[in-house]
Amino acid sequence: MKNILRKIPAVFKGETVERKEACTSCKATTGKLIGQVDYWDIKNSSIIKCQQCGLAQLDPMLTQEETAKGCLAYYVEESLRTSPRDDERNLLRNFRRGFLFGYSLKNKGITPTSILELGPGSGYFAEGIKSVFPDAVVTVMDVNNEILKFNHSHHQFQTIESSLEEYKPELENKFDLIIARDVLEHAIDFTKVIDNVGRYAKNGGLFHFITPNGHEDVWKHYLTYTYQNSSSDLLINHVNYFDGTGLLNDFKKRGFSPVEYYTYKLKTTRKGQGWKVSNKLMARVAQKKNSDEYVKEKIKELKDSNFIKKEVLNKWYINTGMKFFTYLIAWYHHANIIKVSPELNVGHEIYGLFRMDKSGNK
Ligand SMILES: [Zn+2]
Repeated sequence: MKNILRKIPAVFKGETVERKEACTSCKATTGKLIGQVDYWDIKNSSIIKCQQCGLAQLDPMLTQEETAKGCLAYYVEESLRTSPRDDERNLLRNFRRGFLFGYSLKNKGITPTSILELGPGSGYFAEGIKSVFPDAVVTVMDVNNEILKFNHSHHQFQTIESSLEEYKPELENKFDLIIARDVLEHAIDFTKVIDNVGRYAKNGGLFHFITPNGHEDVWKHYLTYTYQNSSSDLLINHVNYFDGTGLLNDFKKRGFSPVEYYTYKLKTTRKGQGWKVSNKLMARVAQKKNSDEYVKEKIKELKDSNFIKKEVLNKWYINTGMKFFTYLIAWYHHANIIKVSPELNVGHEIYGLFRMDKSGNK
């Protein structure tokens, strides 16, 4: 047992190299080469781990155009292998998670009235929050117009079509809650996203995010590179692999202070993510999957998904109108019971709730 604990989290081996692009977070120009990935057949990049701030990133980073193409290819690929039934289950799950999150704010005495969600996906998370705070106005921002249309027609949310890195002066000081779930790991420059969040938040406003624990998330690519001497497939654009301490420091540097910051889901660590050398944990050796085939051909096989919101949410524990039942079931399914400090770099996903303090500003 002691031996295992000494290995967790493992120290990455790799040679120190000059970077093509500086570290997004701390601007270091060297780092440790720990992986090599092919983003579809679109781009080959190294994964460089910063020795100063701990952030691992693609080097060179993807461009907006490359990201857009790969994301569409991934969307097609994923849609074709997910059944509508599973999709619908996910909507319900996200609703319950949003509900639970809304209650966690309520228990803290917080009542958000203006909410912005970045990269909202189906919008059901925000809809879950709204069922706790019916008067809240929700705005969603995404670069993808299809997502915005879905959010507007399903939930009547206000929409903004934009990349998250782009600064929108008209949003300054407008929101008391901003959300970015599973977004930061995809951002070409996550520091711009966080800076924007800081500007769009009111003084004392909150920022909630979840993002993978980078140490575990990058492990599969690290193994393939280090022990197979190969580059691996990167099909979903995780371009940032966060270090628990480095991410916290980055937020502090930008004027945020943590309200809640922890890692949850430890099953992956038990299975060996982040410390164990095994074939099973390796990412597939790169096949440079043909992106054109997905964005030009297979896209034609996609069927329209016609979810009816009433049916998605047609569950006894939502219909009773007694919020206690909704809370109980949501808690049963999604409460994070075991929480550890992200600074340990173990566990699957990092949960953050940060407060923006502008009172010290000039
Ligand atoms: Zn750095």
